[in-house]
Amino acid sequence: MAWDFSTEPEFEEKLAWMREFVREEVFPLETLDLTYEQVREVIRPLQERVKAEGLWAAHLPPALGGMGFGQVWLGLMHEILGQSALAPVVFGNNAPDSGNAELLAVGIEETGDEEMRAQWLQPLLDGSLRSAFSMTEPNTAGSDPTLLRTSAVRDGDEWVINGHKWFTSNGSVADFLIVMAVTNPDVHPYQGSSMIIVPVSTPGVDIVRDVATMEDPETPFGRFGNHAEILYTDVRVPARNLIGREGSGFALAQKRLGPGRIHHCMRWLGQSRRAFDMLCERSVSRYTHGSTLAEKQTIQNWIADSMAEMQAARLMTLQAAWKMDREGAQAARVEIAMIKYYGAKVLYDVIDRAIQVHGSLGFSCDLPLEHMYRAARAARIYDGPDEVHRQTVARQVLKGYSPREVPSEHIPTRRAEAQRRFAGLLESLTVDA
Ligand SMILES: Cc1cc2nc3c(=O)[nH]c(=O)nc-3n(C[C@H](O)[C@H](O)[C@H](O)COP(=O)(O)OP(=O)(O)OC[C@H]3O[C@@H](n4cnc5c(N)ncnc54)[C@H](O)[C@@H]3O)c2cc1C
Repeated sequence: MAWDFSTEPEFEEKLAWMREFVREEVFPLETLDLTYEQVREVIRPLQERVKAEGLWAAHLPPALGGMGFGQVWLGLMHEILGQSALAPVVFGNNAPDSGNAELLAVGIEETGDEEMRAQWLQPLLDGSLRSAFSMTEPNTAGSDPTLLRTSAVRDGDEWVINGHKWFTSNGSVADFLIVMAVTNPDVHPYQGSSMIIVPVSTPGVDIVRDVATMEDPETPFGRFGNHAEILYTDVRVPARNLIGREGSGFALAQKRLGPGRIHHCMRWLGQSRRAFDMLCERSVSRYTHGSTLAEKQTIQNWIADSMAEMQAARLMTLQAAWKMDREGAQAARVEIAMIKYYGAKVLYDVIDRAIQVHGSLGFSCDLPLEHMYRAARAARIYDGPDEVHRQTVARQVLKGYSPREVPSEHIPTRRAEAQRRFAGLLESLTVDA
């Protein structure tokens, strides 16, 4: 039946397992000060349990070792995993590896290049290789990738890459980078850009630094989740490292970013829910000015508003996922753009209220809220800033309107038209009276 908001009982069981598993096994690890290598060691048995449950790398089709979940199921799953930065790694679908695996899969589908599958995709899925996506440049606007300057020039059986990138997430821990470069400057960038695999060990790849950010101001070099600045100077890689067809960079990016945005939004809902739970728990616990905070109307408003906003974001995101499953990423473009800026705002606002209700404790590092807040700020920037997504939505919406000298709802004009149209009727009414 149409408009059914329920989840299949068999999948609901899996979701229940994930909720319990993430809460009991993953949350406690967050509080330990482990290096990335130690984390990898500690989570290995957890990853085996995820595999045994049939939930590993669920974003990919079964032929590629995944579960072939559609976007709605993946969305529901990410809502749970998004509560903890570690959970996606435990489930084999953390960014940017998951999106990069999807990219490679699409490219391989296009070209049938089985060597690429064996050399890059399969090890990525197995977790034996790590990847990063290198598109944004410090000296051109990332919000408009048609301006990209990084070039890749064909020289015999090789590509020679030159350029300057930054915010390549996980670049300093990756084994290989997927670089977006201009391969033909004589045509429009939509047809002249390509994605190329560059092993980090290739001569000419210089990981200049991990950029300190608002999220991690004092991050050590080479930590998982860092954002690398990278110089590419005469970097030579084999021609077969091209993903998909030459010139298909933008088409591939769109395929990668559509599902990625849905997953981000659902992960943000997981974060929002965690902050919301803290907001509610503190409200019923803290006593001041003659009552608990839960009895103050302002706090009740925060709880009610947060609940409604999270529900709205959730339904919008699941609807975008549902449309994508049925009609594809291109058809769901506007819905995906809407959830990107709406979801980011909900995340930010709910965490902000949770901090406020905790007072100085909320501002302190004794709760995860301050870090969640700093991390949430980036949601309005990465995968395209809010303003660009708003522009996409507004442009699409405005296609349904044409200019008019007199507004179509102008009452005197409508009245004159109605009087003309119903002249006979009005006449008979006057005679009868
Ligand atoms: C945490 C994080 C992780 C990231 N990870 C990666 C990664 O792994 N790989 C990668 O390649 N990149 C990554 N990025 C980069 C990200 O994709 C870019 O920051 C983003 O696309 C914006 O590009 P920019 O920073 O160059 O900002 P600019 O393009 O310079 O835009 C600056 C501001 O201009 C405004 N603006 C832009 N366009 C418009 C418009 N049309 N109308 C109105 N205002 C506008 C917006 O307010 C925008 O924030 C990451 C960024 C962050 C913060």
